[in-house]
Amino acid sequence: MHDFHYQGSQLHVEGMSVAALARKYGTPLYIYSQATLTRRHRELNQAMAPVEHLVCFAVKSNSNQSVLRLLAGLGSGFDIVSGGELQRVLAAGGDPRRCVFAGVGKTEAEIQFALQQGVYSFNVESEPELQRINAVARRLKKIAPVAVRLNPNVDARTHAKITTGTYENKFGVAFEEIPGVYGRAARLPHLRLRGVQMHIGSQLTEVAPFAQAVKKVAPLVAQLQARHGIEFFSIGGGIGIVYRDALASGQPAWWRGAGKKFITPQQYAAALLPALRSLGVKILMEPGRYISGNAGILVTRVEYVKRTGHKNFVIVDGAMNDLIRPAFYDAYHEIVPVTKLGGARIASDVVGPVCESGDYFCQDRPLPRVREGDYLALLSAGAYGFVMASNYNTRALAAEVMVHGRKAALVRARQPIPAIWSGETVAPWLK
Ligand SMILES: *Cc1c(COP(=O)(O)O)cnc(C)c1O
Repeated sequence: MHDFHYQGSQLHVEGMSVAALARKYGTPLYIYSQATLTRRHRELNQAMAPVEHLVCFAVKSNSNQSVLRLLAGLGSGFDIVSGGELQRVLAAGGDPRRCVFAGVGKTEAEIQFALQQGVYSFNVESEPELQRINAVARRLKKIAPVAVRLNPNVDARTHAKITTGTYENKFGVAFEEIPGVYGRAARLPHLRLRGVQMHIGSQLTEVAPFAQAVKKVAPLVAQLQARHGIEFFSIGGGIGIVYRDALASGQPAWWRGAGKKFITPQQYAAALLPALRSLGVKILMEPGRYISGNAGILVTRVEYVKRTGHKNFVIVDGAMNDLIRPAFYDAYHEIVPVTKLGGARIASDVVGPVCESGDYFCQDRPLPRVREGDYLALLSAGAYGFVMASNYNTRALAAEVMVHGRKAALVRARQPIPAIWSGETVAPWLK
């Protein structure tokens, strides 16, 4: 996280003091670094430059309008998983012809909308979906570009809830069935078989499973190209990032993280390019976390410090409704004080105010002694952070800020409390 560092005692995002932003915009507060987002996108593009390729940012990882606009301006494509995400991309000025539409449950309305907008490809997860897309395209007198998501049955060796490329989960079509499925799809007159896609999981910290999957699938891609004239192969997303010791103290994250498990774009490219280059098809990538994960932090304020016989609870104003990853995936987020604190560390549980015992950000972690009113930053919260937020406990959605050098802008206002129930009404017989 090159762009997150202490200047003196103060944590900064690029040229901006985090404490100053927290005071100005309140907490809990997400802060994103434009420089990190840009660098990650550029580095992956550069590493993959030897092949014709398109980076399709996974919108579900961070869908803020400023993030999407920034990436659209860098020429990014987008990986979308709902009609709503397509609308978001359009609202941000993204190009629908650079969008791939994934997901196991596309509705007719979503398919129709995406077809009318001219998406690059529907990444299809089942034969009934192929039939449905064909039928919608017939009705609209269009030809729908499709790619089938194949399941290579390769273990991504990541967390069970983010493993997608084995036969134990709902995604894609089994590797062995792909030739038959393409054969039948070729007979559906309103489909164009444009590519083939896979995505084996998220937060992969080794290149081996990617390389294994590409190696396994490459001959099939060549066969589909020869038989059906497909023009692209999407190798999905899933590149893992550093979550531990992500904060650069003068050193870039990859340096601090040396020896720790994560993937650099150079390693990724080196492992995959030999097999991909010889295919001669366009390569799509769908990274989400790799681009947005290290680009964001969640800032929260200490409300109380509660010492019990055994425990030191740091009760903060952020909670699982703001950042659910620790509760949902047992995820680790580094937690640092926004103003550096000396002294001994004390094993602490950082917990939110939500009425769930799962509402904690860490347990028994050695942290500096904090006091009421201090700010803490949860690092690497840019992916699957705000986008997974909810209103549980009638807590407002947090505000989001984008930093660019010495500039900062509120890119999502904190949700006003009455807005939480603004769509609700009292049934007439209860009035
Ligand atoms: C979620 C998802 C991605 C992005 O995954 P990351 O781990 O964030 O890179 C890419 N492709 C598909 C189909 C997905 O579902």
